[in-house]
Amino acid sequence: MSAIQIVEVGPRDGLQNEAVTLSTDTKVEFISRCVAAGITRIEAASFVNPKRVPQMADGEAVLERLVPAAASYIGLVLNERGFRRALTTQVTEVNLVVMVSDTFSLKNQGMTTAEAIGAVQAIVPRAQAVGLPVSVTMSASFGCPYEGEIEVSRLVDVAAAVSDGIEELAIADTIGVAVPADVYRRVDAVRAVTDARLRVHVHNTRNTGYASALAAADAGVTVLDASLGGIGGCPFAPRATGNIATEDLVFALERSGFETGLDLDVLCAASEWLGGQLGRPTPGLVAKAGPFPPV
Ligand code: ZN
Repeated sequence: MSAIQIVEVGPRDGLQNEAVTLSTDTKVEFISRCVAAGITRIEAASFVNPKRVPQMADGEAVLERLVPAAASYIGLVLNERGFRRALTTQVTEVNLVVMVSDTFSLKNQGMTTAEAIGAVQAIVPRAQAVGLPVSVTMSASFGCPYEGEIEVSRLVDVAAAVSDGIEELAIADTIGVAVPADVYRRVDAVRAVTDARLRVHVHNTRNTGYASALAAADAGVTVLDASLGGIGGCPFAPRATGNIATEDLVFALERSGFETGLDLDVLCAASEWLGGQLGRPTPGLVAKAGPFPPV
């Protein structure tokens, strides 16, 4: 059986688009519950401007409270300033971001795609020097909310430009427009220009997220992002609600013959707990429908 590693992005990509800002204590419990379910990599914080993303302002405090080495804690970094903040914490990996479209990049990061590539190229050797693994996420890889279609050739050019010295390259569907045929096409094209491990990040905005994630697994991608309960989105991408739910992805993968190593019961209980904290039921369905076969 093939193994798929699931990266839990709920504490960052999920929470940053929720109306409710959870306390540091609750974020720490969220992450602890993920660890209890067997999750080994967690996007725990982002080091971005707290004025733009107030939900993530306590990144340092969250990381200080986490059990060291219980999992690999990923800190999201957009620039030099964020990288310096990450270095003061116990992050075990940094995730850098490049938006594949210029308009999205300018609105979100205040720089062009080329400038964001330059920032990645400047930070990677410094992370390597302190032994910090780096992954790069290519945002809006499948489409841009402002420019529309993203040519595969443009994605491939970005992939080639950021691949030096990184462990992992994520192809991200920030706005939830990916479909399986596009996943196969883009995974194959990116794989041809990088030696980095590939990871796929999709949203379920148009109900194609799970099909796209399964297509990525079928295409040989071994790392998939998901968020507990299916919470989240991106505050700078209009209407880009909803990651795919970790528990629903685990159910679909395990029933399809992939091994995730995660405890579905613990994930479902955590998803219900999270809904309680956010004051609304989480969008995921498996926690509501229950396990299959029934026990
Ligand atoms: Zn996302």
